Amino acid sequence: MFRRLVRGAAPLLLLLTTGAQAQSDAPIGPADLRQHIDRLASDRFQGRAPGTEGETLTIDYIAEQFRARGLEPAGEDGSWFQPIGLVERTTERHQVSWSADGRALPFDQTLIALQGREAEVRLDDAPVVFAGHGVRLPERGIDQLAGVDLQGAVVFVLLDAPDVPGFPPLAERVRMVAEAGAAAVIAVTGPDIQWSFITSNYQRPTTKLASQAVPPVVGAMPATAVQQLVDAAGASFERLLNEQPGSSFRAVALPIRADLEVRTAVTPYTTRNVVGRIRGSANSGENLLYLGHWDHFGLCRPEGEADRICNGAVDNASGIAAMIEIAGRLAAQPRTPRDILFLATTAEEMGLLGAEYFATHPTVPLSSIVAAINLDTIAIHPAGEPVAVIGRGNRALDAAVDETVAAVGRRLDTDDEAASFVQRQDGWALMRAGVPAIMVGGSFSNMALLNAFLSGDYHGPEDEAGPELVLDGAAEDSNLLVALGRRLADPAIYRPEASEQE
Ligand SMILES: [Zn+2]
Repeated sequence: MFRRLVRGAAPLLLLLTTGAQAQSDAPIGPADLRQHIDRLASDRFQGRAPGTEGETLTIDYIAEQFRARGLEPAGEDGSWFQPIGLVERTTERHQVSWSADGRALPFDQTLIALQGREAEVRLDDAPVVFAGHGVRLPERGIDQLAGVDLQGAVVFVLLDAPDVPGFPPLAERVRMVAEAGAAAVIAVTGPDIQWSFITSNYQRPTTKLASQAVPPVVGAMPATAVQQLVDAAGASFERLLNEQPGSSFRAVALPIRADLEVRTAVTPYTTRNVVGRIRGSANSGENLLYLGHWDHFGLCRPEGEADRICNGAVDNASGIAAMIEIAGRLAAQPRTPRDILFLATTAEEMGLLGAEYFATHPTVPLSSIVAAINLDTIAIHPAGEPVAVIGRGNRALDAAVDETVAAVGRRLDTDDEAASFVQRQDGWALMRAGVPAIMVGGSFSNMALLNAFLSGDYHGPEDEAGPELVLDGAAEDSNLLVALGRRLADPAIYRPEASEQE
């Protein structure tokens, strides 16, 4: 593996003399980060898309860098890797007919979007049900799916959720309806969403974890089209929406039957998280976790364009570079009592899928992870920025962060602007699973710089490696995160409180 990395013009002597071992005690500097970013964001890595040759190059590089710094493999079966099944689906075509009492109901086929779980799904004469928001919350006495048999049914579910804290998002409600036996779950979209936005989303490939349960068919229809359909069948959509108030709502069988045919291109493939470990000195059975996503968008522009590669230098070669260097420093210093895990996740850009898989199939017990520190998009700011924290809310963890920031002579960002990013990063998948997870650094404290990146190079071919990449702030943050890790990996300094997050 290493041979591949140094072949061509790479000066082997230089690698040997400036390699990780030689500089393990010095603070992390911009040049340490740049060498990894230059490599990971090079055109040779083809934008690091999961399931491609770019993935192979990337995960081999990370594993080799971990190995060279003295980490041990902590993936599956003694390897560096955690294999993950993904499924990409792209709708090809579909046809629906609705009937009432054997009479065909008029319907405009452009007013429905569907996708099948398998390449070909057919439903014949399926019952049709309206299930409100499709929510089951037994602890609040809510069961909108009660009273009607959903087995094999086409089920309409309102997409918009009421403004109630903790109300399940659509994906979770779709799962509830599917678990009740529905053959198709169709989200009813309100006036806030342009129908063309939905249809263009359905025309793009979507990727999910193979382990995620999905109904045989998912879809969407605008509320106006559902209303016309229900009314044409002799019922009243208006009454359905208003007759049963709030939490007492029960699903209603509609006087409609459906025939449905969906063809979908379904491509399963395997991708990998990379996991390494520094053994602690105390055999505590507890872990501190650093994570960052290695994936990006690959070839993201059509054939013929001058630059087709989304290299993802800032997003997130920078986070991986920092993680490699942080791992190197922690491995070179006296061992902390707790173990420290380093997780390079896949498929973050597809919806935190690698982190979600780790959170649901952890390589160590989830309850043994005392804290998680995510590294994402950290190379946009100069040194000296205040330190923003995303994911505050666990008092013991917040205190450890505050003390570390003070100890290294930096300043905390006291506004809460960065909080809005909490669901857009891998730490969220761990937070949802009850692990206290934070992002800490300067790149989320200067909103002007962050917004300039997000509205500029972000997710495009211009997010490239090069001398203009600002790495002073990233290096300063990396050193802060080494100091923070030493505290969090020591039970005499930090013990997590039971999570107050949902
Ligand atoms: Zn991204």
